[in-house]
Amino acid sequence: MTPDEFRKAGHLLIDWIADYHANVGDRPVLSQVQPGEVRDRLAANPPAAPEPFDAVLSDLDGPVMDGLTHWQSPNFFAFFPANTTFSSILGDLVSSGLGVNGFSWATSPAVTEVETLVLDWMVELLGLPEHFVGNGVIQDSASSSTLCAILAARTRATALGALPAQLVAYCTAQAHSSIEKGLRIAGIGADQIRVVDHDEAFAMRPDALRRAIESDVAAGLTPFFVCANAGSTSSEAFDPVVDLAPICAASGAWLHVDGAMCGVAALAPELRWVNDGLDLADSYTTNGHKWMGVGFDCSFFWVRDRGPLIEALSIQPAYLRTAQAQSGAVIDYRDWQVPLGRRFRALKAWFVLRLDGVDAIADMIGRHIEWATEVESWVRADDRFELLAPRSMNLVCIAHRAGDEATEALVEAINASGAAQVTPTVLDGRKAMRICVGSHHTERHHVVALWELVSSLA
Ligand code: PLP
Repeated sequence: MTPDEFRKAGHLLIDWIADYHANVGDRPVLSQVQPGEVRDRLAANPPAAPEPFDAVLSDLDGPVMDGLTHWQSPNFFAFFPANTTFSSILGDLVSSGLGVNGFSWATSPAVTEVETLVLDWMVELLGLPEHFVGNGVIQDSASSSTLCAILAARTRATALGALPAQLVAYCTAQAHSSIEKGLRIAGIGADQIRVVDHDEAFAMRPDALRRAIESDVAAGLTPFFVCANAGSTSSEAFDPVVDLAPICAASGAWLHVDGAMCGVAALAPELRWVNDGLDLADSYTTNGHKWMGVGFDCSFFWVRDRGPLIEALSIQPAYLRTAQAQSGAVIDYRDWQVPLGRRFRALKAWFVLRLDGVDAIADMIGRHIEWATEVESWVRADDRFELLAPRSMNLVCIAHRAGDEATEALVEAINASGAAQVTPTVLDGRKAMRICVGSHHTERHHVVALWELVSSLA
């Protein structure tokens, strides 16, 4: 492709993306294709010669589009959102266009310095503890943030003499699957994970954590890692970090707080309570790529002390060593993550903060919470339904009073309709339907339409 051909195709593609966002609400939210259908509709073999751009666009418009679930749809109430604003798309385009690999400061100083700046901005904007300043990194996902926290915790514990087989980790049944996955990758067996009891709000019971830790210590084991939820996936539960922190500190366990979804709500000063206790945590993660509008992937991750993280992840072969890093004057982010290579991910967040602005994001989060509160009131007013978890922010978990089968059938009917998408889950053994109001394109009338749909299909 020549620069002129790129310019032409690029302009077409920007129009195509703008139109997609403008009209995404008209599409069925959940893809209705059958397994194998997308592939069958595409050329089975690679092209023998370069094709015109139009041919690629036509496949995008046809089989690819039919095979998409539209996460940007205003009728997307499933999982947690994965919003991407136009500003973020532009930032991503620059990252792609520059094609730099910023694994160390020296391989492109701006990649590292813009990233550290953006993370320090986020500390200020979210009202996070001062000791996170200069100690943040952008990971691809909260799963990676958590894995890095686990590896740092493991390094800290084993440096103090614990054997890997003696390490024990703690979380509730509400913790995201990435916690168990991260522990497994770190070599922590299922028998080294304690599922701590939660209360009726699905929050960890501090007394249950204390008892579990005491019993493990008495058995000669080493508590090394506690993961607290700040907005859990199934129920948006908040573990009492303030009460858990002294228990962790007394036992020497690393306290990681997973605020993947809800942490960015602190952009709104009245929602800063989501940070309660973070000054006592060893590490913290929240995603730019869920509620903040920074396109996937962008997970903010901070540590109180970067030492154990770097000790866990730094390898120094001759070809990667640089004078600047050896002198300690710069950060080499390759030592703060699992892969070596890294793209200019911070640009997306930098563009969003500069072009969309924090007030717009905070206002959107506020509106979502307001509409979720309305959904909650509609549930309470309808005796066919009950709430299965207290609503903390923008997630409403409901069940059909007729039982699990009715709840399951309702979820399936909503998703099959194409008019909206919700997610099933299980809360304390009961089937639940999660309604998460979180898409940046959602307006109140979409929420009203969702409730009319729920009501008509129940
Ligand atoms: N933690 C929580 C609370 C989540 O809800 C999720 C995903 O929804 C994750 C972690 C994993 O996020 P990611 O996809 O960024 O790995």
